[in-house]
Amino acid sequence: MKHRPAEEIQDLQYFGEFGGVNPSVSDSSTYTFLSAKTMFDTFEGNTEGCYLYSRHTSPSNLYLGEALAAMENTEAAQVTASGMGAITAVLMQLCKQGDHMVSSRTIYGGTYAFLKNFTPRFGIATSFVDITNLEQVEKSINANTKVIYCEAISNPLLEVADIAALAALAKKHGLKLVVDNTFSPMAISPSKLGADVVIHSLTKFINGSSDTVGGVVCATQEFVNDLRNVNDGACMLLGSTMDSLRAASVLKNMRTLHIRMKKHSENALYLAQKFQADGIKTVYPGLASHPSHHIYKKMMNKEYGFGGLLTIDVGNLEKANAVMEMMQQENLGYLAVSLGFYKTLFSAPGTSTSSEIPEEEQEKMGLTNGLIRFSIGLDNDIARTYEKMKNCLIQLKVLY
Ligand code: PLP
Repeated sequence: MKHRPAEEIQDLQYFGEFGGVNPSVSDSSTYTFLSAKTMFDTFEGNTEGCYLYSRHTSPSNLYLGEALAAMENTEAAQVTASGMGAITAVLMQLCKQGDHMVSSRTIYGGTYAFLKNFTPRFGIATSFVDITNLEQVEKSINANTKVIYCEAISNPLLEVADIAALAALAKKHGLKLVVDNTFSPMAISPSKLGADVVIHSLTKFINGSSDTVGGVVCATQEFVNDLRNVNDGACMLLGSTMDSLRAASVLKNMRTLHIRMKKHSENALYLAQKFQADGIKTVYPGLASHPSHHIYKKMMNKEYGFGGLLTIDVGNLEKANAVMEMMQQENLGYLAVSLGFYKTLFSAPGTSTSSEIPEEEQEKMGLTNGLIRFSIGLDNDIARTYEKMKNCLIQLKVLY
């Protein structure tokens, strides 16, 4: 049976300290103990009902983690100060010197830079592969491989990972499958498809107001406990802790996530279909022309659609820049990185969010200069938006 992420969140029930309908916010970095023995036990990892220090856990962070674990159908979740705080902690927890990872080559530029430039300093190597080519993925696995890493829908090329097939490969070789689900919360449930660890940048759709950075690791209770371990836990020791006040505000925003995701998807599908019909090179997982449309359809929680991200290729960087500047001038959105906002956001990934990827690699993976990535907003009248966007494209001779 398909997972029902919105119902899982809806069914959580909270009572604040004074009977409030929102859980009380824990505005403390440290916590008292009535007995010194309990404090010792808490350090030893026996933390049932006790809080020690907010870098370890805090009530507000646990509430948010509980909602995210419910959404992703995992036993537990650990929230972090940013998406990168989640990604780096997970990979450092799973790999040690001499280990190897197989990663999709089309991933967020920051993650790519971490794997390409940073982890080798610790003797951890990564092979970058076309994640849609399962044969290539399997061929890249060696005796030292510990992790297969991918994004459910990749940034920025919107490649779709066949999570069930990758999970089977991971299982066969005794590896962990780690999936970044930032682009498709609610729409895709990687843990249901066999992923071991699901990560989000909460900065994007989940928080949805572009007012904070945040991240989460959704996994088994055992793995979450490992991340929090005071002796060797990457979250505890690297310190990527979310602030409690922020955790409380992200939790409140999550309650509208299901409605927002449906609207983002509806609007993006409308624009993708229109742009494609106009003859613009358009990539969107909801278009039958997308090479992995059928895989997305097989994986999706139907009611949430194909997500809010689409790309168009307008030929070259100059045109891409002109289109974005004009669209911003016309108040159709913002020329800004990031995604999941109520307004449309657009950027040219080759020179922004993927600029960490060397040009020749960008070329190999099909990341062209004229590519514009759109995170489509919650516009109430998307037909009006389309007409205005089309007008910009005509004025700039992208369309005739
Ligand atoms: N994963 C994806 C797919 C992203 O797009 C980003 C940021 O753009 C991140 C992770 C990193 O998240 P954060 O910026 O919250 O650290």
